[in-house]
Amino acid sequence: MTAQADYAALVQRGLSLDLTRGKPSPRQLDLSNDLLRLPASYRAADGTDGRNYGNLQGLAELRELFAPLVQVPAGQLVVGGNSSLALMHDTIVHALLTKVPGAARRWVEEPEVTFLCPVPGYDRHFTITERFGIKMVPVPMNAEGPDMDVVERLVAADASVKGIWCVPKYSNPSGVTYSDETVRRLAAMPAAAPDFRIFWDNAYAVHHLTETPDELADLLALAAEHGNADRVFVYASTSKVTLAGSGVSFFGSSPANVEWFLHNTGKQSIGPDKINQLRHVEFLGDPAGVAAHMRRHAELIGPKFELVDKVLTERLGDLGSWTSPAGGYFISLEVPHAAEVVARAKAAGIALTPAGATHPYGKDAADRTIRIAPTFPELDELEQAIEGLAVCVRTVAEELG
Ligand code: PLP
Repeated sequence: MTAQADYAALVQRGLSLDLTRGKPSPRQLDLSNDLLRLPASYRAADGTDGRNYGNLQGLAELRELFAPLVQVPAGQLVVGGNSSLALMHDTIVHALLTKVPGAARRWVEEPEVTFLCPVPGYDRHFTITERFGIKMVPVPMNAEGPDMDVVERLVAADASVKGIWCVPKYSNPSGVTYSDETVRRLAAMPAAAPDFRIFWDNAYAVHHLTETPDELADLLALAAEHGNADRVFVYASTSKVTLAGSGVSFFGSSPANVEWFLHNTGKQSIGPDKINQLRHVEFLGDPAGVAAHMRRHAELIGPKFELVDKVLTERLGDLGSWTSPAGGYFISLEVPHAAEVVARAKAAGIALTPAGATHPYGKDAADRTIRIAPTFPELDELEQAIEGLAVCVRTVAEELG
């Protein structure tokens, strides 16, 4: 059968499958059902009543539990609500409206603010910067992280470059973990802007798929060693550890930045949800508890990543290339005419993240990257979806070359 005939048969099946967002599956969420019965006590370790207002920075016991996992000293860690993305969004709003430590002026007063965006990257980062009129400049990713020759050149030459988005571990969507040398260069490089910041979104810090986890160098410590202590904003959350909609998030930085951050968030809220913080401490216990819990996630999602790899190997061969990540939530598929492949998949009832979403302004000039999120569907549906996607790739290749 020709690819076109396969495609016609695929459309006939009237599928309705969704590979768009990196959501945990219901079975993954079930791993954390005990949270629904916790906390057993509303008293924090220091004896305070978790039900009441207060403690803007978050419970010390939760900060201590996550400090080694996100590579931030507990005293420099802040616990937020359920979304780290909200913390990133709000950090940018704060930087626009109140001078970050070291800044000559508020970002809103700058003639232009530019962020470097390693590509392929996370679409929701780009949505935030686009929302505030921040100019986005793509920087290619390679096997060790962003191309540091490009990053160093742009950051040193242009004082409008105030930030860079980074997902340093099991990156979304490429799966790359930044090498030690990349992290060192980010920490040490000269910056034209005194208020240049690295938005270090360590969303997949503990999300390993293998028994030999990737190691990530400690950017916050390295930046301080190189005299750039205020350069780093660290983010993380338990969205893909416990409950995606009801986790806890973290912001970590230098003492000066943490003070600046709390000064601003103190205007927004009298204090966070400490009952949720308490239940996370009771449920996860210690770093070994987090690791054991993450192994249960890996048992559920590891076979899904393997299945995608197997189907693509069998069905695509050299018509495309794709990643086999050692952690995180995504597989990045590179094929010619990605936008047309996504359109064909949609017409066949297979929803994929729009082609281009992995690039600023939704523009993938090479039209090659498709982000596959394999975690949510169960294996049978995932297999149908990836088989269908492969049919779409082959059909488009046959038609457009
Ligand atoms: N950062 C990255 C890199 C992500 O991939 C995601 C979700 O897919 C998030 C942040 C969302 O984090 P949160 O749920 O803490 O807002």
